[in-house]
Amino acid sequence: MLLLILRGGQTVILTALLYQKSTKKTRLRQGLSRCFCYNTGMPSLLTPIKSLRGVRPEIAEKFTSLGLTTLQDALFHFPIRHQDFRQRVSIDRLTVGQEVTVVGQISSIKARPAWRRRMNVTEAVVTDRTGGRLAVVWFNQPYLATWFKIGQWLYLSGRVSRTKQGKLQLQNPFYERPTANPSHEKLVPVYPSTAGLSQWQIRRVMKQAVALISLVPETLPADIRQSLDLSERAEALRQIHFPTSPEAAAAAVRRLKFDELLAWQLRWQHAATLSQRHPAPTIPFRQADIRAFVRQLPFPLTHDQRLAAWQILQDLQRTEPMARLLQGDVGSGKTLVAAMAAFNAVLGGWQVAWLAPTVVLAEQHWQTLSTLLPAEHASVGFLSSSGLRLAGQRGPISRSDFTARLQSGTINLVVATHALLAETVGWHRLGLVIIDEQQRFGVQQRQQLLERQIAAGQPMPHFLSLTATPIPRTLALFLTGQLSISALRHKPVGRQPIPTTVIGPAGRAQVDRVTTETVGRGEQVFVITPLIVESDALGVRAATSEAERLTAAWPKLRIGLLHGSLPANERLQILQRFRQHQLDLLVSTTVIEVGIDVPNATLMIIEGAERFGLAQLHQLRGRVGRGSRPSRCFLVTDQTSEAMLDRLHRVAKIDDGYRLAELDLELRGGGDLYGLRQSGLPDWQLATLLDTALMEAARLAARDIIAHRSGLVPQLIPNSDHHGLAFHRE
Ligand code: ADP
Ligand code: MG
Repeated sequence: MLLLILRGGQTVILTALLYQKSTKKTRLRQGLSRCFCYNTGMPSLLTPIKSLRGVRPEIAEKFTSLGLTTLQDALFHFPIRHQDFRQRVSIDRLTVGQEVTVVGQISSIKARPAWRRRMNVTEAVVTDRTGGRLAVVWFNQPYLATWFKIGQWLYLSGRVSRTKQGKLQLQNPFYERPTANPSHEKLVPVYPSTAGLSQWQIRRVMKQAVALISLVPETLPADIRQSLDLSERAEALRQIHFPTSPEAAAAAVRRLKFDELLAWQLRWQHAATLSQRHPAPTIPFRQADIRAFVRQLPFPLTHDQRLAAWQILQDLQRTEPMARLLQGDVGSGKTLVAAMAAFNAVLGGWQVAWLAPTVVLAEQHWQTLSTLLPAEHASVGFLSSSGLRLAGQRGPISRSDFTARLQSGTINLVVATHALLAETVGWHRLGLVIIDEQQRFGVQQRQQLLERQIAAGQPMPHFLSLTATPIPRTLALFLTGQLSISALRHKPVGRQPIPTTVIGPAGRAQVDRVTTETVGRGEQVFVITPLIVESDALGVRAATSEAERLTAAWPKLRIGLLHGSLPANERLQILQRFRQHQLDLLVSTTVIEVGIDVPNATLMIIEGAERFGLAQLHQLRGRVGRGSRPSRCFLVTDQTSEAMLDRLHRVAKIDDGYRLAELDLELRGGGDLYGLRQSGLPDWQLATLLDTALMEAARLAARDIIAHRSGLVPQLIPNSDHHGLAFHRE
């Protein structure tokens, strides 16, 4: 031990002590040899997971696929929830839905292949002293049938469900034999994972990460921490992984949520301070030209569009940089309003950057804007990783050509994905940045752009963000740092409602019939396949097999397949073919979620609808009903649970994105730690939109820090070089 201390220094002592606590001798040995390893590489939070003992390369790869390469990454990979193994319940007291630990004796067990392909089922019956009988089933663990002996006592933890025959059962419960340091007396973390990586494997790494917790520095000033009654950072990290009580876990979550929210606010406020110090260009409101532009449109502007455009065009005349949010449900006509702002800017001799979240959308906007804006004033370019295009030119143009035109100002409107900002694009006179369908609110990108403009001695561009995500004003202020909001509350007149039907397993025939009829009328169909959270690969498989199924069923239909794993240019081609009606039916993952505008598409079929948020279903539905013909939407699900069907029926009944988003909030609640990640809102791991009180606290703390101790900012914003902070992932 002395030798170790001399060689390895402080951290070695720490690790050695930790392992000493372990009861088993083998563990102690492992711990010591671990210390020797550390000597060469200095143990730290940056120790790679792959170098840990017992982590095989295939397992290390699984960690990498979750974005976890070091112990520090692991420390900031928070559990989704904790399973409460302490809730010991006797079998005669079990109720469905309860999460319990049962202490029972195996009274029968056998493994058999299941009728479903490549599945194996191990079925057991467990009894306890109350004489109650409980069915237990494990999938694909046939060895359990030989491991466990009749009469053996086991701790089994899981959620109680009911078999088809109505008996109570545990499916895939955690099992444990009575041991000295039992998990079944604890709150056990459940982590987001990936196929082939077990909770057990993750927990093992987590234990090693948590052992280094004393190396994690406190980042918050003590006065802020105390006045808000927040736990210490190291303690919070320890407790979120392996809590000693539900209260301790809650306190840990609160502290770590605060860190996320504070970092977010600091970024915005930092950007705001920067931009206040740098004036924006004054872009005159070209009333006559704008009027003429509006007159030649095939439809009148809605009242809200007119008002929003007016507010924006006023803002552009000020030297204070505009920071405005344009909110409007899908199909409310945001693009047109933003296009008017862009047109006004190019008329004034300024360049415009128009940023979309996906290549597919960027390309679509490029096309729309190229036809919408008069070519003698607007030269519209499209920049993507796969090429550079210019309106009016057939093929792609070279990068150097594009850059030259951008620098000289002959291209005055560039449509691109957010990645554009990461590129070294030299602008001639950038005056306006439009961020379309902004889901992540681009706080980082925006700051990058600001800093680059300042470095180049250029004025601060005006910012206009477009969003269909319905967020209340106070939240918008927090999320976007933007005080000015224009809202498009009413859709253009003549927009038809989209009748929406929930389809259970028995309704397939109706969907098929309507599909055939739709295509027969020369109209087009979207089929959206479920969003699968755990793995993109699964999403691709779902889309691919659905396309195969449909192709087999209707060999005459022209069916296209779109998913995120296709190269960008291929995605564009497929979408182009769909738009030009060379395809009748497009099977797609949610790649097309926002903004796609194909007026001839009149049928939207959403498979696995139960997997989507309500607001998201509404957004998807908004992809049809864009032309003059009646459109409809099917929400298809295999689920038969009452609650699930009720949820879907709400989408069928309600045609208001705001209302549905509120319902989403209510129904999902703050229960799962991961909260609203799926809704495309900021990628906080813990904080949700329901944390309004903490948000306000974070906003005020950020204000205080920026005003009085701005030196602290870098250590409070993750991804800065400061060590010990790595919980931000994009
Ligand atoms: P979103 O707000 O979802 O971005 P879009 O801007 O894509 O909506 O508009 C949806 C469709 O409505 C487009 O085809 C657009 O041309 C059309 N549109 C926009 N404004 C009006 C209007 N005032 N009257 C009729 N149609 C309009
Ligand atoms: Mg749009």
